Amino acid sequence: MDSHEHHKKIEDALERHHEAHFWLHGMESHYHVADPFRWHLNAFLKALDEVPTLLSMKLQNEKGFPKWFRAPASSLRTDPLIDALAKHRDFVVHRGMLVPSSKAFIGVTEGRGLKAGMSYPINPLDDSDQAMDRYLELYAGPDFLGVLTPDEDSVPCVFREWHLPQFKEEIVEVCARAWLRVGETMLDVLKWLGGGNERFSLDCRHGARDYRFRTYDRDLLIERRVQLRSGQGRGLASANEED
Ligand SMILES: [Zn+2]
Repeated sequence: MDSHEHHKKIEDALERHHEAHFWLHGMESHYHVADPFRWHLNAFLKALDEVPTLLSMKLQNEKGFPKWFRAPASSLRTDPLIDALAKHRDFVVHRGMLVPSSKAFIGVTEGRGLKAGMSYPINPLDDSDQAMDRYLELYAGPDFLGVLTPDEDSVPCVFREWHLPQFKEEIVEVCARAWLRVGETMLDVLKWLGGGNERFSLDCRHGARDYRFRTYDRDLLIERRVQLRSGQGRGLASANEED
């Protein structure tokens, strides 16, 4: 059997897994905009959850498959990571709005990590720009972080992280792990169908800029601050809506 043929047999599952990969990158690119971020997470959870079902369905008439698949399917289902994400998916599908927790820091970065920052309360339903607006409008203390102090080496930023209950790791990392775990089961199936050595990789994520940072032009922030405080301001958040 050539490689094409056994891929063909599970192409719907492969396609759904590929779709989940797409939503995963969407979570990275919408990390600072609360609604799209959550919607991409929801879509990811749903797509990933459907992969094992599609495998069972598509191969149910393949001789010996249903019996063989029982063990890998059960080991996938009972994997604590997969199980927890499946429960979140069920919540989204049957109960309502999934709002992960979110924490934020405002400060400066020099390209690697947070150079100086302070923890800043953020409502998980708020965009990072709204948090920055609030900081500009209300924070009256000294600029000890250097957010608004001219400096060529540092860039003002919001550093943000999303978390699901029971995971210490940041959400996209959790989802990436789960994606690879489901991929392992799919590779087992491909092997069972006579395939050779293949692998699923998320190396594509490594080259990306750290999505947890949203950086800002300092001059723009200084200007916004004046506007916001004089009451004529439209914040970063409203300005971005017109982008
Ligand atoms: Zn990718």
